[in-house]
Amino acid sequence: MTEAVNKLCNTDSTDVAIIGAGPSGTIAAALLRKLGHQVTIVEQSHFPRFSIGESLLPQCMVFIEEAGMTEAVQAANFQYKNGAAFVRNGQRAHFDFREKFSEGPGTTFQVQRADFDNVLAQQAIAAGADIRFGHRIEQFEYETNPDQTTVPVLQVRNEQGELIKLRSRYVLDASGFGRVLPRLLDLETPSSMPTRSSMFTHVQDNISDASYDREKILIAIHPELPDVWYWLIPFSNGRCSLGVVAEQSFFNDDLSPETLLKDAVAACPDLADLLSDAVFDTPVNKISGYSCNVKSLWGEHFALLGNAGEFLDPVFSSGVTIAMQSASLAVPLIDRQLKGEPVDWETEYGQALRRGVETFRTYVNAWYAGDFQEVVFAQNPDPKIKAMISSILAGYAWDTNNPYVKESRRRLKTLVSLCKAA
Ligand code: FAD
Repeated sequence: MTEAVNKLCNTDSTDVAIIGAGPSGTIAAALLRKLGHQVTIVEQSHFPRFSIGESLLPQCMVFIEEAGMTEAVQAANFQYKNGAAFVRNGQRAHFDFREKFSEGPGTTFQVQRADFDNVLAQQAIAAGADIRFGHRIEQFEYETNPDQTTVPVLQVRNEQGELIKLRSRYVLDASGFGRVLPRLLDLETPSSMPTRSSMFTHVQDNISDASYDREKILIAIHPELPDVWYWLIPFSNGRCSLGVVAEQSFFNDDLSPETLLKDAVAACPDLADLLSDAVFDTPVNKISGYSCNVKSLWGEHFALLGNAGEFLDPVFSSGVTIAMQSASLAVPLIDRQLKGEPVDWETEYGQALRRGVETFRTYVNAWYAGDFQEVVFAQNPDPKIKAMISSILAGYAWDTNNPYVKESRRRLKTLVSLCKAA
């Protein structure tokens, strides 16, 4: 079989092969190019293409800057974002990310991902990365060199159905929910999160409420079911991304996604009032069971970036931040490895990345338990503590100077008790 495949294949080679041109792949590519490495990204689709994950966190801006892409992102006219607003049964709260504990940017953007991912991809190309759009990774194997060292080889299929072998010195799997290496190398392990589903679309929002703040994502909570929540992410063109998240049992499978989303919105008066003039002009998408995990975030000559590793939950918009953080952590390690220096991938990458993911996990679990909502809607919160929580919501989940990062579970538990008592 291998021989038959070899005969069909052209063989190509690069220093680092990246699977997928989402944010983790393109940020990694630009960072690798800065260090002088040859990079080939293999992307199955053609850009621009839709992707979910439209509300960025300020921490992302650090990685965008590292990759030299700030100017291009700023020039793209995305909606400026400075925080998160919450509403539950008429009760309102918000976090302004500029009022935060950690160092770093306090603002970011809400982006149509088709455009955003395309901006990043064009920047990666301008930095010298070779992106093969319309090419799909099908297999991963190792080949042994005459000197007995091994190299990873990817089998790539183009749109003409031809197979190409891509030899590299290192592979980054940035395939997101495609989860290419976790599937091919049997790395999947169950997520600790329950299976939830989401229905979402874009609407022409026609919001006339003067108090509505387009510079913040709005998270609305179902009036009776605290674990059912909605996002409203305004864009700069008068449109919004609208979605609802719930356990699967909340959705009646006999109804169309359009009906389910509209019914869900109608059940939440805070949101229904705001969207009373909205035009639903775009098909509704559904995604289920998106939480995922892997046994290991790295292996021989490869590492998993972003959603190809672990994905928790959309509630705090942490996905793109984690994706970019993973790229920023992995690239200097690859650089060292390619120079023949030793790298402790488990400590320097696996554990380092999971540290922030664990912080988010604490807050995500507390959100669905209803506990974090007590913190969000607390009356007269201590401004110092609020700034520490604001930092985490702004994506600074790796900043262990923040006590609510360093000892997230213990601190949050105490804070929740205080909020409940008050
Ligand atoms: P992706 O952005 O998914 O990119 C992966 C790329 O790999 C794609 O372009 C794909 O075409 C390509 N690919 C896949 N398979 C192959 C293959 N075999 N060969 C070649 N190419 C391949 N995150 C946020 O930050 N903010 C949010 O508001 C937010 N909302 C969300 C709402 C929901 C309902 C969900 C489920 C997630 C949300 N996320 C959000 C998470 C966000 O979508 C992801 O975390 C983020 O897109 C991950 O980036 P990535 O680079 O890892 O992968």
